[in-house]
Amino acid sequence: MSHVFHRHLQQQYPTAVGGDGPYLIDSEGHRYLDACGGAAVSCLGHSDAEVIEAIREQVGRLAYAHTSFFTNEPMEALADFLVERAPTGLSSVYFVSGGSEAVEAALKLARQYFIERGEPQRKHLIARRQSYHGNTLGALATGGNAWRRQQFEPLLVEVNHVSPCYAYRDQAPGETAEAYGERLAAELEAEIQSLGPENVMAFVAEPVVGATLGAVPSVPGYFTRVREICDRHGILLILDEVMCGMGRTGSLFAAEQEGVTPDLMTIAKGLGAGYQPIGATLVSDSIRQAIAEGSGFFQHGHTYIGHATACAAALAVQRAIEARDLLPRVVRLGEGLQQRLEARFGEHPYVGDIRGRGLFRGLELVADRSHKTPFDPSRKVHAAVKRTAMANGLMCYPMGGTLDGRQGDHILLAPPFILDESH
Ligand code: PLP
Repeated sequence: MSHVFHRHLQQQYPTAVGGDGPYLIDSEGHRYLDACGGAAVSCLGHSDAEVIEAIREQVGRLAYAHTSFFTNEPMEALADFLVERAPTGLSSVYFVSGGSEAVEAALKLARQYFIERGEPQRKHLIARRQSYHGNTLGALATGGNAWRRQQFEPLLVEVNHVSPCYAYRDQAPGETAEAYGERLAAELEAEIQSLGPENVMAFVAEPVVGATLGAVPSVPGYFTRVREICDRHGILLILDEVMCGMGRTGSLFAAEQEGVTPDLMTIAKGLGAGYQPIGATLVSDSIRQAIAEGSGFFQHGHTYIGHATACAAALAVQRAIEARDLLPRVVRLGEGLQQRLEARFGEHPYVGDIRGRGLFRGLELVADRSHKTPFDPSRKVHAAVKRTAMANGLMCYPMGGTLDGRQGDHILLAPPFILDESH
């Protein structure tokens, strides 16, 4: 018996022993094409020589220095790199070890910002249903995925949830995309009014929804309206780009394609591409300034924030993506992937929708295409697809449908940017 407390205690996992470009290799020599980057993580594949060398070099010089005593060179350089490329106004970066921590930091930064500004009554958070923002308690409370929250409800702080932007299921017949976006904006506005705009702290959303919906972008104009509403009421906009950021959708940040700048933006996964665990929260100038000129410090902190080796790895990953001009490739390969998926599965009786941006694509599986009826969740169709794919040497990221029939099972594809057409 394995003494590891595995993710699933009734499953056997193959042992991964090596990586070769976009492939993972198990201890029996089977090769798996990593078509989902694990969970949209491994954007440079599994054996990038430059990144490996950068890690080796950094560990040899300085592996780690606690940030309450020192800053370090890779952390400073990575912050410069990100801020130079981030939407204008995001001027500093708080480094953590992963996506959930990045979301927790964003929530606490938002709260502390309003305390520093003398608005302590602003404590309500609005997020969206069918969303996922991480598994730590604050992030889990923010997420609106009923299945993930269910048994931990008593431990979760109150968060108000509005509808996600999910055109395939929720745009009404005959309703234009613009009218649908407007309807969602009105719902957000109504929620804010019911809480009292002066009591609302932040609105949290993923620009392209990953784990819970399967690569679902919003309709054009939705985020512009969200930004306007937040601005009008002095509410912070937190965009969670943990999954969809760092080039995954074809631009470095998915928010660029929406034409909006958030006040706080969370990133992780593709930031370090799995070579080291790292995440970050990008912070607007006004939040940084309020805290700098107020108490002077963010009342937070983990042991591994700004980890030198993790920052060196992430810097090497991001430099490689830029030097190899991989983002135009993400756009081109992504369009090709969409076309091939449509050609192969567009008329498939069990595929209801094929969507996404860049190398971030989702297939929604349904029992009946014309009525968009999801499979009965107890059949665990997504798990069967994952098992079958693995048996055939392919990794894809599955997610189950919801019990209320509001979404079907889906398969998420988020392959490394280094693929070529042959893969
Ligand atoms: N936010 C989003 C949008 C995610 O997709 C995830 C993970 O899938 C997280 C946050 C949590 O990230 P992590 O698993 O690194 O804690």
